[in-house]
Amino acid sequence: MSYTVEQRDAEVLGSTAAITYTLDFGRAAQHLVTVRMIVTRIKEDSITVRMPVWTPGSYKVRDYVANQGNVQVSVLSGGGYKRADYAWIDKTSFTVDTQGVSEVRIEYVVYGYERSVRTNHINRNHAFIVPAATLMYVEGRTNEMHHVVVDSASHQWSTISTPLSPVQPQTKEYRYGAKTYDILVDSPLEIGNHQTLSFTYKDAVHEVAVASSQPVDVQWLGKQLERIVGVESDIFGGLPYDRYVFIVQVYPGGGGGLEHARGSVNAVDPETFLEKGKQTRLLSLLCHEFFHVWNVKRIRPIQLGPFDYQREVYTPMLWLAEGLTSYYDDLLHYRCGFATQEEYLSTLAKEHIMKLMRVPGRYAMSIRDSSLLAWVKLYQAGADGSNRFPSYYLAGGVVMLLLDLHIIAHTDGKRTLDHALRALWERYLANPGVGLTEDETIALMERATGVQFRDMLLGWLNSTQDLPIEEKLNEVGYTLATASAKDAPMFGEKLAFAKVPEKVFVGWTLSMRDNKVFVRSVEDASPAAQAGVGIDDEILAINNTRITSVSLLDQVLAASSSEVLLTAQTDGEIYTTKLKPIPELSVTIESLSAPTEQQLVNRRMWLSRVL
Ligand SMILES: [Zn+2]
Repeated sequence: MSYTVEQRDAEVLGSTAAITYTLDFGRAAQHLVTVRMIVTRIKEDSITVRMPVWTPGSYKVRDYVANQGNVQVSVLSGGGYKRADYAWIDKTSFTVDTQGVSEVRIEYVVYGYERSVRTNHINRNHAFIVPAATLMYVEGRTNEMHHVVVDSASHQWSTISTPLSPVQPQTKEYRYGAKTYDILVDSPLEIGNHQTLSFTYKDAVHEVAVASSQPVDVQWLGKQLERIVGVESDIFGGLPYDRYVFIVQVYPGGGGGLEHARGSVNAVDPETFLEKGKQTRLLSLLCHEFFHVWNVKRIRPIQLGPFDYQREVYTPMLWLAEGLTSYYDDLLHYRCGFATQEEYLSTLAKEHIMKLMRVPGRYAMSIRDSSLLAWVKLYQAGADGSNRFPSYYLAGGVVMLLLDLHIIAHTDGKRTLDHALRALWERYLANPGVGLTEDETIALMERATGVQFRDMLLGWLNSTQDLPIEEKLNEVGYTLATASAKDAPMFGEKLAFAKVPEKVFVGWTLSMRDNKVFVRSVEDASPAAQAGVGIDDEILAINNTRITSVSLLDQVLAASSSEVLLTAQTDGEIYTTKLKPIPELSVTIESLSAPTEQQLVNRRMWLSRVL
């Protein structure tokens, strides 16, 4: 069988499997799941069983085996099962002697108590199971049907939400199947007493599972998701699956998402539902993860599937996988009607363009290299990270914005990046087993749009120079303007607020600990760096005013003249230094004063939407 991510529930219905896992949650309160793995139809004299070190979509070696223990192996030979030896051969894998053996039973526990979209989280309330972190595979047999049984006697939970397909929905046994181990790895399970709803769009069922200890307006969420599904499927002319599961996890500090071929896991903080601004950011996350149905899970760099689960998989193409998706998430958010045109342009200026301008690392490493090294850069970014590399999400997203504008301008407003995307989608449909090389990707995009941009695009992706943002915005009649106070908010009957000092730029981020202010990061070449301030220094005083909070520091700095005396301490030793903050950079996207007719045609094409 060649590599595939596609599975329809009907393909698994009534199936049998030679590799089955039973998940026992009898010790969920201690954050444990007991896995009983049975391997049958054994023909070899020995088998090798391995635990993945990473899960696709999250480019970090996590050594999931670190949370596994109490491995016991027994084999069926002759009349019954008897304990058998096994031998570890490396950090993730062991072998079992299977001469004369028809079945092997492997039992182990997995400790799961890390709350994220790519790690297990088990407690008395629920279990979120990431298959790569939990289920070992038999080398050489990953292309077979695998079943997972959730032992219902071991817990009190009522609901299971998973892209895995039910094997016998009519019975009381919770048995699910995946045609291959790759599909199994791509199918997390949320098990608990969570809220659910479902809707059908173009014959595909969409399940929404919300795991939250706070009340969440699930109906509202379902309505917005229906809109997202509609707008995104229109780009590609339909939906490539029969069923899709949105898992939404709500917990303090929650953030981020992980894409799957028939589902996504989206984590948010409970505050998200209490503030209107944050609600719309959540919708942008949902637009992003859902867009991966096409871009990443199906339209994918050649290195990203089939996967080697034992080591890093390197690709320079995360500018396509995540950069393009980051550009589209806010564009789709706008196309869905979640934002006005003005709000979209403001988000683009603040969250994309300005954020990138605040990353000195864009002068230190190219976007392609940042992608290839994601394993040791973005996924292991320390406090100094943004000085050393640009995120391929952020920088890749701005490059895709520029490419979109370039295509529009060079086709007189007749083609957009949407046309390029559709060509990549047709290529997937024609040859789903093999991912795209960078060469083929660019060739397909050029052919679909009729614009030659290979050298320009690769130049942007390989360089460490500033991107031509102003030039490309001009093509659609916009310009980057320095933000002014002209839109200062008013109160009451158009009365001005008391004067608030202008924010200044220092080039550090700060945090509070025990009522003290600490430096969390320092931007290269910034006023903070020039003043000799370091990460983890404690800020004691500005111009001899004792600093006890970040907001007080901001106020004192804003009210001071251009140079201040900073008192701080490193490692118990106090020092003073001169700090020269500069005016805070703030840009907006504004219309040119007299855009040409063609620029307006281009702009309409760029920002067109059907509501
Ligand atoms: Zn993504």
